[in-house]
Amino acid sequence: MIIKPTSVRFKRAASRLRQIVNSNAEILRASWIKMIHPCGKGGCKCAKGKKYWHTNWYISQSKDGKQRMKSVPLEYVKALKIKTKTYKEARELLAIIGDEYWHEFSDKQKG
Ligand SMILES: [Zn+2]
Repeated sequence: MIIKPTSVRFKRAASRLRQIVNSNAEILRASWIKMIHPCGKGGCKCAKGKKYWHTNWYISQSKDGKQRMKSVPLEYVKALKIKTKTYKEARELLAIIGDEYWHEFSDKQKG
């Protein structure tokens, strides 16, 4: 027997997840790291002080239980952030769906 949660919360999450998967939205499983530091080049404005330091963006991803990190050129940050945002939303929806299934099983066991 297949049990499916009937709550509004489940239906909303499942429907939104389906919408994401069926859309052209790309999903990137990664989180962001922002680093502000001097480049070390003599004569660069960043040598003048902290407020002139450079901002660098990195994506971080777990692979085989380890974190790995990659520098992202500034011109790609905006486009990639859309993909990681979609990932974050999909992940939250999966958490809701998992949660609702969990409650469904708990309720069935009580009865
Ligand atoms: Zn510099």
